[in-house]
Formats: sequence, structure tokens, C-alpha cells
Amino acid sequence: GRRSLSSVPGVRERTLIAIKPDGVQRRLVGQIIQRFEQRGFKLVGLKMLQVSDDLLSQHYGQLRTKPFYPGLLQYMTSGPVVAMVWEGYKVIESSRMMVGHTNPAEAQPGTVRGDFSIHVSRNVVHASDSVEGAQREIQLWFKGKELLNWECCDHASTFGL
Ligand code: UDP
Repeated sequence: GRRSLSSVPGVRERTLIAIKPDGVQRRLVGQIIQRFEQRGFKLVGLKMLQVSDDLLSQHYGQLRTKPFYPGLLQYMTSGPVVAMVWEGYKVIESSRMMVGHTNPAEAQPGTVRGDFSIHVSRNVVHASDSVEGAQREIQLWFKGKELLNWECCDHASTFGL
């Protein structure tokens, strides 16, 4: 018989993707969203915000002793950020591959960073790097009611179920 789609392991996975101020200023928002849509992931949360120092220090807390940290805070508060939660099968791992290496100079062509950036200090986009990290970051950036549960009309057929 048919299994419920939500019983497939990993299919309800969610990740935080944030288009950083350089991505917004360079008008890359549409192209970046398009990549996640065309891959087949589902958008369940989306907002534009001016990030606070408080949010950033929680988000990047583990980096606070790094020499680049002050510059990172300045960069991330230099303009609006577009924050999104994307859902789908293995979305965390897949989106890290789509975003590419932290250092754009080492990012593969075809990745967001490999196509749109050259230097680690302006790498266009953030993507959660683990299940625990994604849960922590989504709770930090979004209120529960800002995340929507909805079904795509073509969702189940994508998986042949
Ligand atoms: N970063 C930087 N210089 C560095 C390393 C990192 O400015 O030498 C910034 C960069 O914006 C990066 C962020 O700090 O995306 C977080 O670093 P992390 O190692 O967590 O990489 P990510 O998960 O973003 O790929």
C-alpha cells in the first residue's frame, strides 16, 4: 500500500537559509530562491529583517573568539537579510552542497558561492550545517507561527509513492 509521505525518514527535515546583506544588495534574492524551488524543496518560512547584534551573537556565538568576528558582525548588520526556512528530504546536506564551500575561492562552480562570490568575507548566503544546528538556528530566527505547514499538490508524486 501507499506510505504516508511524512513517514519517509528525512523528508520533513528543515534548514535555515539566509541571504546575507551582500546578496540582497546585489539583487541575488530571486536567483537564490529559484535554486531551492527548482531543486524541489518547500518554502515554509520567509522574512526580510535587519538583524540585531543580539541575534547575531547567538547565531555566531561559537565564532566569537575568531579574528574575523568583529568584521562578520559589521557585515551581517550592514543591511537587510532575507531569512528562509526550507523543508524537504535531506535538505540540510543538499543545501550545504548547493551553497558551496565557506571560502568562495574554494567553492565549486554551480554552487551559490562558487557562482556569485570570490571572498570569504562576502559569501552571500548562510546555510545550517547539521540537524542540531538547523533546529537551533530556526528557533532563533523564527517564531513557531511564522513557519507554515502546507502540502504541495505534486509533492507525493516526486517520490513515486
Ligand atoms: N567567515 C569569515 N572569515 C573566515 C571564516 C568565516 O568572514 O575566515 C564568515 C563567513 O561569512 C562565514 C561565516 O563567517 O560564512 C561563518 O563561518 P562558518 O565557518 O560557520 O562557515 P559557513 O557555515 O557559513 O560555511
